[in-house]
Amino acid sequence: MPSPALTARISLQRACPACGHSRCADPAECLDSLTSHTWGNCDDCAGSGFAGELDPLAIFCRVCSGSGRVEISARPALTAVAA
Ligand SMILES: [Zn+2]
Ligand SMILES: [Zn+2]
Repeated sequence: MPSPALTARISLQRACPACGHSRCADPAECLDSLTSHTWGNCDDCAGSGFAGELDPLAIFCRVCSGSGRVEISARPALTAVAA
């Protein structure tokens, strides 16, 4: 594998799925968000967190920022509303 000479300033830290940052400002709040909402595998990267062929310039998936998780509680088809 050829190693590229240019240095990319891309964070190798996976982002938190709750706040989208690699370092949580409030980890407790993020944990609460992750436990109170429904999360599923990111459709764009199939939960791997890597951009892969979707975006050759990025390391991690731009949809989930590398977490591989997305909030799916807002999906209307799966939302069962009790009458
Ligand atoms: Zn967070
Ligand atoms: Zn993704």
